[in-house]
Amino acid sequence: MVSQIFINSCILIAFISISQNFIRRIDINHKSSFLLKFITGLWAGLLGVILMMYSVKIAPTIITDFRALPILLSAIYGGVIPPIIASIIIGIFRIWHFGISYASILAVIAIILIGIGFCFISAMKVTNKRKWIYSIGYLLTVNLFPMIILIKDPSSILEIFIAYSLSTVIMSYFVFKYTEYINEAIKLYWKFRNEATVDFLTGLNNVRQFDKVFNIVAQQTIRNDGYLSLIFLDIDFFKKINDTYGHNIGDIILKDLADILRNSCRIYDNVFRNGGEEFSILLNNCQSDSAMEIAERIRKSIENNKFYISDKKFINITISIGVSTYPNITQNVNELLEHADNALYKAKRTGRNKVVLYNNEDNIK
Ligand code: GH3
Ligand code: MG
Ligand code: MG
Repeated sequence: MVSQIFINSCILIAFISISQNFIRRIDINHKSSFLLKFITGLWAGLLGVILMMYSVKIAPTIITDFRALPILLSAIYGGVIPPIIASIIIGIFRIWHFGISYASILAVIAIILIGIGFCFISAMKVTNKRKWIYSIGYLLTVNLFPMIILIKDPSSILEIFIAYSLSTVIMSYFVFKYTEYINEAIKLYWKFRNEATVDFLTGLNNVRQFDKVFNIVAQQTIRNDGYLSLIFLDIDFFKKINDTYGHNIGDIILKDLADILRNSCRIYDNVFRNGGEEFSILLNNCQSDSAMEIAERIRKSIENNKFYISDKKFINITISIGVSTYPNITQNVNELLEHADNALYKAKRTGRNKVVLYNNEDNIK
């Protein structure tokens, strides 16, 4: 009996661990789509069926195992639909595999009641830990009745019920802790993944993402014989703004500027904060004339924008912009960034608050 309980535990843990790899990209919660909940129900049902195949025989027609735990998991994380689907699958398999008997009919009734009960508990506005405690209490109560009905000898009932309850409580506690740990790990995974690509202040793509996206877009442009323009921009005298109004106000300006840039671009253009007060926009399939128009539009909208530094007080800022385009201006796509930066430098040198298109003859390297 102990070895079968051990096998049941191993199957349960192995299944949860393997599933972790698949659900890392999917957020299963009470608001997930019907399809996702349906699949979660199938998953829990399948796991319940496998657990049942390695069940512990406690009397000639009575078997026990951890089949209710996947239903419980699916209820806590998936809400109402998954436990219903899982308990129906498990109920059907109980009769199909072990045959119709008084015990199997009782088992089916019990598993359906367990599924329905878990649904109600999962809908309660309490912590997941409380849901687990209530669910295990309910599970043990429901499972006690078939034992009383099927096992006539009271001392055997007590013995079997204690063994079943103990193993269920220990195993369910372990599974609860393990799934909470997995959830925490998945949350951290997404947090770090997000932080690796997104600038924390403005929410724009960060410089690491710039390198990645630039390489992909550049290769696509070469393959398709297309155009690729790069806008590089920098706030004029930003240090003075920081010195005059403080770093926090500087941050607000950076955020507002990022919003303007985001709203000035087409959905398939990529906007980046390359560092400090330097930003860039990668314009897919965009020739230099259009890129210059877009850059000039952005320059004007920044110049005319009121950057509020308090409820009533606003300041104005200006930016300088450098532009370059592959292949008519920059022949080597890998030099696009350097050329746009050079053009920006020229804009700064020649008075700021202007847009400059890179020119090979300027020799401003
Ligand atoms: P220029 O017109 O030549 O670009 O002058 P500038 O003062 O803008 O240029 P400089 O590079 O000297 O100054 C950039 C300033 O940007 C310095 C730094 O304090 C500020 N800065 C960089 N990152 C941040 C940030 O995240 N928040 C704030 N508030 N300021 C930042
Ligand atoms: Mg600057
Ligand atoms: Mg700068």
